[in-house]
Order: sequence, then structure tokens, then C-alpha cells
Amino acid sequence: MINNLSELNPDLYNFGNMLILPGTIISWFKKENAYWHYQGDPSPEKPHAELSSGLCSNGFFDCQRILCYPNVAEILAFQLACEIKFFMNEEKIKKIDYVVAPAYAAIPFGHEVAKALGAKFVFTEKDPSDPKGKKMLWQRMAIPTGANVLQVDELITTASTIKEVRRAVQEGNPDLVTFVPFVGTIVFRPENLKAKQEYEIISLIKKEVQNFEPGQCPYCKAGSLRVRPKKNWDKLTGKK
Ligand SMILES: [Zn+2]
Repeated sequence: MINNLSELNPDLYNFGNMLILPGTIISWFKKENAYWHYQGDPSPEKPHAELSSGLCSNGFFDCQRILCYPNVAEILAFQLACEIKFFMNEEKIKKIDYVVAPAYAAIPFGHEVAKALGAKFVFTEKDPSDPKGKKMLWQRMAIPTGANVLQVDELITTASTIKEVRRAVQEGNPDLVTFVPFVGTIVFRPENLKAKQEYEIISLIKKEVQNFEPGQCPYCKAGSLRVRPKKNWDKLTGKK
């Protein structure tokens, strides 16, 4: 048992080809208080989460609390790269040329995935004209025709960020960009894991988390306060 995530040694995991089970990764999230799930029935005493989409939710992963450890980013990226290589074989893709990730939280992780795959790393920027920070820009680099591009994110809820990154890159790039037919992430947290996905998603953790329209949210109805998770983490989790 480790005391601190900074003690995890990438050489031991990566060169030892050690498979890390999802339960172990969840335990790292829990150790860093990076995973919250509503406990018990909806009640006015306990707040619930307001997502950036405006929806209410009863669960939240804060990947930055894990990815702030460079060694953990390296270990998780190596694990994901192993899974990606399996899919590359299936799809007869010999090489990933570029890994692209959106700003900000996915950047250190995407960088490590690119390193593990021997690819170049690039990222989309947040468009300053969008106050919600959802719109992406691609303006500093050019991806050449025929290069295989893998999209990586640290957390995927719906296909909206995936689509926005693709839109920005396709529109901002001088030549047509070829994305490989799968996307990589640490956490995939859809509402329904059985629902057909628009993109093939390769993830290290899969967890269903419920989202609700505020008008139909059982937590709002019960008088539970809705709060933005990252700014109110201690109120949500009851921990610092
Ligand atoms: Zn609500």
C-alpha cells in the first residue's frame, strides 16, 4: 500500500508491463479525494453538482487532482497507450503520428500518451471569445495530409468536446486531417454505458454517472443546493 501517489514509480509499472486494474485507479482517485458520488437519498443537507453544461449531476471526477502528479500521468498514459496499440492492430494502423488534446486539463496527459506512442503532441486552445470556455481554436500548427491523428482527453462525458476539438482542427488546419476511429481517455462517465457511442472510446475507467435537467432533478426537488464542483469541492465531499 502506498502512502503518497508521488511514490508510484513509472519504471516499475511501464517496463514491468504491469496491468493496472480500474479498481486500483479508482483507489488512487479516492486517495486524492478526486472522486465524489452523492451518498444516500437526495436531501437539503447535502449539495449536488452543477456541470458546465448546466445539467445537475450526482457524481464527479476531478482528474487534475491525479494528473498534478507527473509520475501518475506517465503511468496512466502508458496503460492507455497499451490499450490503444491493441486497437491499432485491430484497425491495421501502423503508427499514430499526432496526439491532439484539448486545453487545459488534458494537456499533460495527452503529452504523456504521445510520448508512450512515439507520436508528436499538439493541443487545441480555448477560444477567448467564448466565455464558457467550450469553443476551441487550432491556429499555431499544421498537421500534414495523411498523418494519423489520435484524439485524447482526460475525461469524457458526452461526444460534445470530441466533436468540438475535431471541428476546430478541421477548420483551422490548411489540409484535411485524418482522425483514427477511436478516442482515448482516463475516465469515461456516460449516463448509460450500454448506449451506442458515436465514437469508439478507449478508457481506463468506465463509470455511469447520472445527469439531470434542473427542472427534472430529484436533488433540486428535495431542496439540495446545486454547486459548481471544483470551486465547492469541500462542500460536496465534506473533505478538504
Ligand atoms: Zn439539481
